[in-house]
Amino acid sequence: MPVILTLWGDHETDEGQAIANMIQSMPLIVGLRLRVSSYHTLNLSTKFGSSVLVNPPIQQGSMLRQWAMENKTQINDLITQRAYLNRTSLLPQPTEDELCTIKEFLNLPMKKAYWIQGSPRFLDKSQRLWYNACSNCHKSFRAKPQWKIICTSCNKNVNILPRSRLTIELADYSGNLTLDLYDNDAQQLLPFTLPQIQELEGKHQLDYTAIEQAIESSILTCFVKKMTGNRGPADTEKYAAIIVHKANAAELISSTSRNSASSSTPSTNPLTAPESSNLTTSSTILNATA
Ligand SMILES: [Zn+2]
Repeated sequence: MPVILTLWGDHETDEGQAIANMIQSMPLIVGLRLRVSSYHTLNLSTKFGSSVLVNPPIQQGSMLRQWAMENKTQINDLITQRAYLNRTSLLPQPTEDELCTIKEFLNLPMKKAYWIQGSPRFLDKSQRLWYNACSNCHKSFRAKPQWKIICTSCNKNVNILPRSRLTIELADYSGNLTLDLYDNDAQQLLPFTLPQIQELEGKHQLDYTAIEQAIESSILTCFVKKMTGNRGPADTEKYAAIIVHKANAAELISSTSRNSASSSTPSTNPLTAPESSNLTTSSTILNATA
């Protein structure tokens, strides 16, 4: 799985240049104390106190080098396909033992994201299904100006664009939580496109019953984390989905009843989330300029 590692400051000029000079040789990079962000896709960057080691003499080195040589074609293909930007490749559908129940999730330490699965319910039928946001960092803006603006959050010169946002309740047998879904994760559940929604809203003709039915006919597998930087009151916990895989509820039920042997008790293993995944694997993608 390719992932972007961004080097900042001295790391960019020092190790970054060294890596750029030998990038063809698929160097082994070990990053210590990196920042892991799963805000939009998954990516890594250096922060104060990070260390980046290039081709360190570590025990796992020869194994990783051999792995890189054996999979060179696939690795290069993934880089060419820009798989490091593709959320579906970065966060594919988890296996059953990577799922945790909603009750377990609510009791877990909150820094990490976890996979949960459940049935969605459309909350609040008067909710607005989109908001205007910075095209770079997704900060919300009340109005959509005609011209580019400097975003007050990321300081970039950006367009303000409408972005889908859907708030649902996700429930499994153990519990439920309120979850915000964004962009395509929200859009895939809705029977209308975003321009259609805006147009129908304007005419007060948006069919909320159709939306409710579309949403409630699916089963969602979501990589979820608690929202930080609270917008609401402190006592209402907010959760956001980093990615959502949708399955059709009817199809899923018929397939699990066909192999009922596998629909055993749900696993209690929470996902060892990408936050803690093996950061020492050969990461040959480098984005030293961003
Ligand atoms: Zn911004």
